[in-house]
Amino acid sequence: MDEPLHPETIAVTAGRPARTAGAPLNSPIVPASTFHHGGDISYAREGNPGWEAFEVALGALEHGHCVTFASGLAASSAILDELPVGARVIAQRAPYFGVTEQLRERERRGQLKLETHAELTVAGLADSIAGANLVWIESPTNPMLDVVDLPAVIGVAKEAGALVVVDNTFATPLGQTPLTLGADLVLHSGTKLIGGHSDLLLGAVVAADPAFQRRLLDRRHATGATPGVLEAYLALRGLRTLPARLARAQATASELAARLAAHPRVDRVRHPGSGTIVSFETAGTGEDAQRVCEACRLIVHATSLGGTETTLERRARYASERAAGTPETLIRMSVGLEHVDDLWRDLDRALTVGAGS
Ligand SMILES: *Cc1c(COP(=O)(O)O)cnc(C)c1O
Repeated sequence: MDEPLHPETIAVTAGRPARTAGAPLNSPIVPASTFHHGGDISYAREGNPGWEAFEVALGALEHGHCVTFASGLAASSAILDELPVGARVIAQRAPYFGVTEQLRERERRGQLKLETHAELTVAGLADSIAGANLVWIESPTNPMLDVVDLPAVIGVAKEAGALVVVDNTFATPLGQTPLTLGADLVLHSGTKLIGGHSDLLLGAVVAADPAFQRRLLDRRHATGATPGVLEAYLALRGLRTLPARLARAQATASELAARLAAHPRVDRVRHPGSGTIVSFETAGTGEDAQRVCEACRLIVHATSLGGTETTLERRARYASERAAGTPETLIRMSVGLEHVDDLWRDLDRALTVGAGS
């Protein structure tokens, strides 16, 4: 039997057209709303060869069956639409704010019962897991970067018969593959590290069970939450270089986390030891932290994450994050591909002129 391929190799090779003479190496962009009758696809909401190429590649990396959507939130909404009315959902206190909003809105309408935990742990779930329909896990968490013990928590949830979703946007399949740990579904915002260039919006669900993939394909068809053909093309192009970008950005993130921890104007650094996101709390007030963000010249003061350029923002600028208890002085930084010393010079200067001025 052939040795299984490494993720770096899968990222480059999966989802290519067949190697026949004259065939292109990349799946072409197919802009079409309708197709000649008699084939697999007759109308564009049913599918597109470019979506499938991306789905084959991401599915291979996550060890499951992928369906791509218009955005990460279109993907999470499709998952929640699969729940029976009255479902019990267990989640962390504040998953990604858009997901939190989808859960709370469904709760307000009486479609589900939401139970949130400050932390998802085996001990914390002991009394509540029985009868739960869904456990929604984000690890590492945003923006606190706490790490959930995935094998243990997934194990307890599966034993109780709950469906388990892991939002793998921050870790990517290079960091962890939750389906191999027993999860049922993986969610991705392809907008972030997978796309990798801050130029598209796209989401995906990867299911362990091909029957669940079928249900999600039907739901995408029914709701029309389809990705654009250009977006799917760019997301697959981004996926090809994800392993290399991630390795480089992770190394820079670790180095910056270490330097920040020794900086006199930084009170606390959060970095789980892997990943490209570093959260740090500056000395002084929220306004001081805001000034640090605005004093950056190389690092971009903007939301979102996972691009080639390093970005940062004070998360408590958002009411939803303040309500979730995010510290006023916490700055979340998404580390990109610039040279570490250039980034550090900018950060060090911004901290010096910003904090406590
Ligand atoms: C951005 C993000 C989402 C939502 O994805 P969109 O593509 O913006 O709709 C979901 N989860 C996490 C962790 C995210 O960072």
